[in-house]
Amino acid sequence: MHEHNFAPSEAAVRYLKSRLRNIPDFPKPGILFKDITPLLADPRAFHMTIDLFAERFISENLRAVIGIESRGFIFGAALAARLNASFIPVRKPGKLPYKTDRVAYKLEYGEAELEMHVDSLNGGSRVIIVDDLLATGGTASAAAALATRQGAQVIAYTFVVELDFLEGRRRLLENAAVPPAIYSLVHIGAGE
Ligand code: AMP
Repeated sequence: MHEHNFAPSEAAVRYLKSRLRNIPDFPKPGILFKDITPLLADPRAFHMTIDLFAERFISENLRAVIGIESRGFIFGAALAARLNASFIPVRKPGKLPYKTDRVAYKLEYGEAELEMHVDSLNGGSRVIIVDDLLATGGTASAAAALATRQGAQVIAYTFVVELDFLEGRRRLLENAAVPPAIYSLVHIGAGE
């Protein structure tokens, strides 16, 4: 089989980056929020995003794409449909109607929780975790813990945007028996 480099072209990255909007001090002072709604509103940018993800994962024989509430639903659902894989939502507490597994995790200040339906996955299922953005990695690793608890294999994480300076990547790789792939389209440095 040919080795393939899945890194998007510089032109593609530049284009996607131009469709992110910086919102200073949202939702709290000191946070530079990366707003992805201009990317969603631009048909070419949204199409490119899903194409790049689909190309990366089409041959990975995935059983499911796990999307994290709420922006992970937008990208994850579109990708799952493209890959003929299941879409599985991971949600904030109290939103899923059936029996759930729950995981608590630490945020910069305080704690948060995520839930997944108990019958979402079977042992051995190959799955990926999707969200719009990787910051510290707490949210994505909590979603992975829910999937792993049901016996699934998290083979990769994928994000539209990665804030490189927060080292979320390191957190996603630590404690993994088999290191997952981490595929982010746009990388952002400190102060960008
Ligand atoms: P973390 O758990 O620190 O990796 O945070 C990731 C989650 O918080 C994702 O669901 C993101 O959508 C959201 N998030 C964190 N920081 C930002 C940011 N600067 N801009 C937009 N979303 C963010």
